[in-house]
Amino acid sequence: MIVDAHCHIWERKWLKGDMVRLMQSVIDELGIENEESIYDGSPDRLIADMDEDGIDKTVVLPLDFEFLYTGGGFSFREFNDFAGECLKRFPERIVAFAGVDPRRGVAAVEELRRCVEEMGFRGLKLWTVTGFVPDDEAYYPLYEEAARLGINVLVHTGLGPGESYLKTCRPVYVDKIAVDFRETNFIMAHVGAPWTDEALAVALKNRNVYVDVSAWQKSHSVFPLAMAQMLSSAKLMHGGMHKVLFGTDWPLFTEIYTQKQWVGCVRDFEHPPALQMMGLPEITEEDKGLILGGNAARVLGLSD
Ligand SMILES: [Zn+2]
Repeated sequence: MIVDAHCHIWERKWLKGDMVRLMQSVIDELGIENEESIYDGSPDRLIADMDEDGIDKTVVLPLDFEFLYTGGGFSFREFNDFAGECLKRFPERIVAFAGVDPRRGVAAVEELRRCVEEMGFRGLKLWTVTGFVPDDEAYYPLYEEAARLGINVLVHTGLGPGESYLKTCRPVYVDKIAVDFRETNFIMAHVGAPWTDEALAVALKNRNVYVDVSAWQKSHSVFPLAMAQMLSSAKLMHGGMHKVLFGTDWPLFTEIYTQKQWVGCVRDFEHPPALQMMGLPEITEEDKGLILGGNAARVLGLSD
């Protein structure tokens, strides 16, 4: 089973105001030529891409953007509802996480509960680029609710789009909540790049912390050794390849690599001689299976 543990959906008509500037920053950063490749975030396109590329299940992550950005007149609840409709249409293919900003306090707890209990969501997505530090104890009621509901928490770590906060996206801010909520799994998006070592260290120390490789397509396309080294280091540090989840950040990187090509980057991975010389372990076929779906199936509780 191949699982994409990190992707986004949106309605074209929502991408107005700050959301256009946000998209433009992605276009500029990545050098995207066909803007439609990132503007079209429709569930129908997602499922078609998954079918073409052999991805069995995908985690969709609505974003609670409202503390930093204006959009096209839609709310974070409508964003969650949109993911809920997608889940309803494609229950075998979609896993949904709720996009909730913890600064909402009681309303955050209520929205998470609504998404999980009424719509069948399996996780919480924290979009730290909007400027909150996730380990603030003021947010503990939200983590207590996540623990009670038995869901996973995906935290954005590392670089985000332009005009977003970077400091709040340090992987180390996942450490305290991982210690204080030991029964909850935390997934650190993008392996915290460029703080990759920090992210791997947090994942090493806490048995309930994982990383996803979404958004590594650009760096892989120009310098594939960096990802190879990260994966080998993760295997060495963690005593096996049981902490890394495959992810794409669809539709943002589809022009750089199709989903199929990105899956292929992992599946066809060969151990570079440079890493062999450094004594870093080889990524075996079994490891590749864990990255592409085995780990996500275990962490998210998915079955075929
Ligand atoms: Zn993302």
